[in-house]
Amino acid sequence: MALEKTLVLLKPCTLQRALVGEITNIFERKGLRICGMKMMQLTDEILSEHYAHLSEKPFFQRVKDAMMTAPVIALCLEGVDAIAAVRALAGPTNGRNAAPGTIRGSYCMSFQENIVHASDSPETAEVELKRFFRPEEIFDWKQTTFPRLYANDEF
Ligand code: ADP
Repeated sequence: MALEKTLVLLKPCTLQRALVGEITNIFERKGLRICGMKMMQLTDEILSEHYAHLSEKPFFQRVKDAMMTAPVIALCLEGVDAIAAVRALAGPTNGRNAAPGTIRGSYCMSFQENIVHASDSPETAEVELKRFFRPEEIFDWKQTTFPRLYANDEF
């Protein structure tokens, strides 16, 4: 168990569908601490870096183009084992296969237009948080509900 920070992007489809508040609320209700939050217009350059692992895929440019059709909301979320917890909450990539109750399972029908991006490992989270946030944009405020969210041997 470790206290972790992870990166979430609310994708352009989420802004277009007016789901920003609803999806952010899911993370807040879960107990994750919002350490950073900002709106950004992404560029082909940052997306080529962010999605480098897809560069050989036929849909690479299409995925990047979709991520530039409107701004995104970048979130830095913190919690115990937050990286895996947020990935589980997001559900698998293809919304059609995602279990009901997950974000993708509840809010989308698409492989591509799948509401959120979430970091998939501690190594990725570290790199991705640096990609989207400057150090002064991450706030280490004290979450007073912390002792109600976890037992004292969980952190
Ligand atoms: P995830 O976002 O679940 O970590 P990947 O890193 O594999 O998934 O892919 C990044 C994004 O690229 C996905 O969230 C999705 O928007 C898009 N994508 C991935 N695979 C496909 C696919 N086969 N068809 C369409 N879009 C895809």
